Amino acid sequence: MATTLEATFELYIGGKEQPGSKGEQRTLLDPATNQPLARVAVGSRDDARAAMEVADRAFRESNWAADDGARRAKALWKLAGLLEANADAFARLETLNQGKPLREARGDIGYVVRTFEYFAGLADKVEGETIAVPGPRFDYTVREPLGVTVHIAPWNYPLLLAMRSVAPALAAGNAVVLKPASLTPLTAVALARLAKEAGIPDGILNVVLGSGAEVGEALVQDARCRSVTFTGSGEVGSRLALLAAARLVPVTLELGGKGPVVVLADADVDRAAKAIGFGIFGNAGQMCWAASRLLVHESLRAPLVEKLRGIADRMKLGPGVQDGVEMGPLVSQEHAAHVLEYVEEARSGGGQVVAGGSRPTDEALRAGNFVRPTILADVPATSRAVREEIFGPVLCVSSFTDVDEAIRAANDTPYGLLAALWTRDLGSAHSLARRLDSGMVVVNEAPTSFPQTPFAGAKSSGLGFEQGARALEPFTRRKNVLVHLGGGKRVA
Ligand code: NAP
Repeated sequence: MATTLEATFELYIGGKEQPGSKGEQRTLLDPATNQPLARVAVGSRDDARAAMEVADRAFRESNWAADDGARRAKALWKLAGLLEANADAFARLETLNQGKPLREARGDIGYVVRTFEYFAGLADKVEGETIAVPGPRFDYTVREPLGVTVHIAPWNYPLLLAMRSVAPALAAGNAVVLKPASLTPLTAVALARLAKEAGIPDGILNVVLGSGAEVGEALVQDARCRSVTFTGSGEVGSRLALLAAARLVPVTLELGGKGPVVVLADADVDRAAKAIGFGIFGNAGQMCWAASRLLVHESLRAPLVEKLRGIADRMKLGPGVQDGVEMGPLVSQEHAAHVLEYVEEARSGGGQVVAGGSRPTDEALRAGNFVRPTILADVPATSRAVREEIFGPVLCVSSFTDVDEAIRAANDTPYGLLAALWTRDLGSAHSLARRLDSGMVVVNEAPTSFPQTPFAGAKSSGLGFEQGARALEPFTRRKNVLVHLGGGKRVA
């Protein structure tokens, strides 16, 4: 049965919900049924400009930046509490909009709560230093917020990836303008509605809806934009970095991946199979850090692939809101078709389809954007399915006999986000972790992260980092203050 959400979701600027300046709206579809789900306002370049103006004024005129960090901490704790109290409603909204199973959406919302709590804890720890200098002088640094920070988010973890940078930016005292992905804006608007009750001054947290090409670029090019945090595709990320460079605005880019999973001969096959299954079929594979390339030692190939085939074949597909569903639909019809193109190309290029490889035949799933969990084996290393990010539930398997060969293959990609390693040998774990050319490595673990651990991509996977105790630094600037104490011989 189709679910239609009654209220229209609008832009949130200056503490108020408002329609876009052109009065346009569009209909979002439920990815599980492609039936109308919600009406959303469409923002324009003018709305982007208005949001930047409001945020800039709030930054200068409210107490947010000037206040003791402990006050910001209180507001962020309160926001975390409000979100936690409404976690079920937020998770359901995320599932209806994006498609992921409710269980996963609950995990996402819990992660956002924890993110706000973590950065609330850092809000009163923005510290400078004193520096010894010659003569009767005193030198110190202070770290100040930047002003208006712009955040552009993707559709795969809509609220989580948006708040991963919004929370530290707020904790550091900035005013935020967020543009969520056009496909998945609902939870961002719902969260902004809680800001007032949390004690965040109007204009400090703003959400502008609308297309990336129009609204996103207008935000980045606005003279009041002091930093850009972008999570999304490499193509758009590079373009935004160029636009920001023209005004010397710093950018943080969290981009794509083609995550290798290297399974050595001594690995725990049962645990590895479960973790790899989660790492490629979780969120229907729509993860930047998906475990999308399995490189397994020849001796373990047959048992591991057999276990993975079992996981793929048994997975229960369905609308994310249904009980027991393990994999939901992909976010849109276009994206599902795009993922299946890769599978077809791999198949026609000589790859073997071990599991899935098509849409499900179940009549109840026909209308949705479902793709079966897919395992491809022995796809030529030059094929697009092996080289490019598919961003769907598709695992490419190959095997090796020599560890050096495996590390070479793992690193043979323009990407470098997360690599996984499976071994029981402590020496191999640490030495090979160093040789993997990626921003993050997990050992005997599925792709996993916490607000306190840095999230960073190497090579084409990104620039800068998010999360962790230093995540406030990119949202502050360092000011040096040198004071002559007088009473000396002369003021130099
Ligand atoms: P995308 O097309 O690049 O879009 C991401 C965001 O950028 C959306 O809000 C989009 O708005 C906006 N945008 C598009 N064109 C723009 C432009 N010209 N100027 C300013 N903003 C623009 O990426 P996606 O398809 O949503 O996300 C998938 C990609 O994100 C994958 O490559 C994935 O690996 C990557 N990702 C990386 C991470 C990480 O942490 N490293 C995490 C998740 C996803 P519209 O929606 O209006 O187009």
